[in-house]
Amino acid sequence: QWAAFDAAYFQSYSHVGIHEEMIKDHVRTDTYRTAIMRLQNFISGKVVIDVGCGTGILSIFCALAGAKRVYAVEASDIAVQANEVVKTNNLSDKVIVLHGRVEEVTIEEKVDVIISEWMGYMLVYESMLGSVIFARDKWLKPGGLILPSHATLYMAPVTHSDRYSESIDFWRDVYGIDMSAMLPLAKQCAFEEPSVETITGENVLTWPSVVKYVDCYNVSAQELEIITAKYRFESMMRAPLHGFAFWFDVEFNGPAMFSNSHMNDLYSHDSSQSKRKEAIVLSTAPEDAPTHWQQTLLYFFDPIDLQQDQVIEGSVTLSQSQENPRFLNIHLEYSSGGRSFVKQSVMR
Ligand code: SAH
Repeated sequence: QWAAFDAAYFQSYSHVGIHEEMIKDHVRTDTYRTAIMRLQNFISGKVVIDVGCGTGILSIFCALAGAKRVYAVEASDIAVQANEVVKTNNLSDKVIVLHGRVEEVTIEEKVDVIISEWMGYMLVYESMLGSVIFARDKWLKPGGLILPSHATLYMAPVTHSDRYSESIDFWRDVYGIDMSAMLPLAKQCAFEEPSVETITGENVLTWPSVVKYVDCYNVSAQELEIITAKYRFESMMRAPLHGFAFWFDVEFNGPAMFSNSHMNDLYSHDSSQSKRKEAIVLSTAPEDAPTHWQQTLLYFFDPIDLQQDQVIEGSVTLSQSQENPRFLNIHLEYSSGGRSFVKQSVMR
């Protein structure tokens, strides 16, 4: 049932621009490389699957870390270039590019490591994690490694008056003309759908709340179809509330059955004692270095004036769209100061 939608999805990954953007995102690409190098003791001599290898970059990092064999699986036509890149780097004996969907390719052995860069906006947009789960259940040996191993989606209330003014208040006075008749349409066009943009820690009104914690070793495809979370915030300041921001981080840890001390044995010994104990995290939080994921904002049509310590509570539900499973429905309920609202939107 996914086939028709996936043609368009994989088509989008056959263009160079999207891969250029991802690879130029140094926070993203360097964190993967660091994780691979820190886990070199585990990866060396082992068999790896790279789910969605794109240009092949993560597969090549794994080969350089000493992997015995890497199955680099890619459904889009960028697989053709990945194969050329592998050849140019004299890694054809180690990296096997398989041009096809991971759900359809043939791999005739179990693997020790699954690596994938599957995260979409709001973590779950694109629904690619299901393909990693598929690979895990089909090929991963017991005690094998999944990179990244854990993911967390967060949300927090935000204030962003500049952004609101630029799209909305602007119409109140246009060359001296009152164009506020445009306001309803402007609000709808600017804020009906989620918007991917960069905010800073200063826009965030209080500590974030966890929407979903994913343990990649144990998560099921079914539990990702509908994600629901309740939240309760107390604003740390007096400010207009313009909406909510969503972001995620992913961690590169071993399986839950590994104790931390065991984990430290896996890490290469080139790093200092203290460094070896630190988890490796790729964060897309507003207070951290920006990435191509930025943050995802859900704006209200009208801001709510918050007092300090005022409570905002409600729930959020993320579900795969019926119209296209790669799309994401977002159902947001919020109440504050005795008033309740519902916002329904689709990320296409
Ligand atoms: N690993 C690369 C690309 C990451 S983008 C990098 O880090 O730069 C995700 C890639 O996964 C895209 O190229 C997309 O076409 C591919 N992909 C997504 N779902 C897939 C599936 N089910 N089977 C094979 N490839 C898939």
